[in-house]
Amino acid sequence: MVYEGKTKIVEIKDGYAYLHFKDDITAGDGEKHDVMSGKGSMCAEITARLMRALKDRGIDNQFVEFTAPNVIKAIPLKMYPLEVVVRFKKAGSFIRRYGGVEGEEFAEPLVEFFVKDDERHDPMVCKKHLPILGIASLDDAEEMERQAKEIALALRDIFKEMGYDLWDMKFEFGKAEDGKILLGDEISPDTLRLRRSGEIFDKDVYRRNLGDPMAKYKEVLEQCRKHITL
Ligand code: UDP
Repeated sequence: MVYEGKTKIVEIKDGYAYLHFKDDITAGDGEKHDVMSGKGSMCAEITARLMRALKDRGIDNQFVEFTAPNVIKAIPLKMYPLEVVVRFKKAGSFIRRYGGVEGEEFAEPLVEFFVKDDERHDPMVCKKHLPILGIASLDDAEEMERQAKEIALALRDIFKEMGYDLWDMKFEFGKAEDGKILLGDEISPDTLRLRRSGEIFDKDVYRRNLGDPMAKYKEVLEQCRKHITL
């Protein structure tokens, strides 16, 4: 069985899921699209190392093994069609929706749910909508929220050790065969905002046409290699 998305191909084989990261980069619900050589392998390896670092801190997730250049072997999950966003600082759609100053810190981490639906521009949902929409039970939504906060705090520490400031990020969760909810998918400069003294190391470089995003992704990968052993 094979599923293809905008940036990944997922193959289910021998009881595992194999995530093949593609060189495609997209923004604006797929309206902006390019292919950048090496992008898939960099995001796969960054994801693998960060998932490894989370596991080392006792935070379970889908990751099993990284196969260079661009494949992650993972526990198969039934994914929720959701994006769970955690924000430490104001940016992006939060500011478009509510206003405010970019980089302003929240008093505590903010968790938001969005339904994955490009046609409707990934609408934000209140967790109480999730059972009504048939997406997740309230208990499952609360478990995702709890894990998302815990993972975000761990990632903020991990990136701090590398000299980066983590502003916000997106997670995707799924349910394993044993019923456990686990973090899946990707954690990379495509899915988080990473800054260092005003310099941008994430997909905003692409979204806002600020130069070569791959040079920035490469630096993040090098830092991950330095700080996290696979
Ligand atoms: N994000 C993502 N995929 C999406 C939407 C957002 O990975 O489809 C990430 C994004 O990179 C950022 C965080 O989630 O790190 C919050 O994104 P936001 O809601 O501010 O939307 P954006 O301005 O990125 O469209």
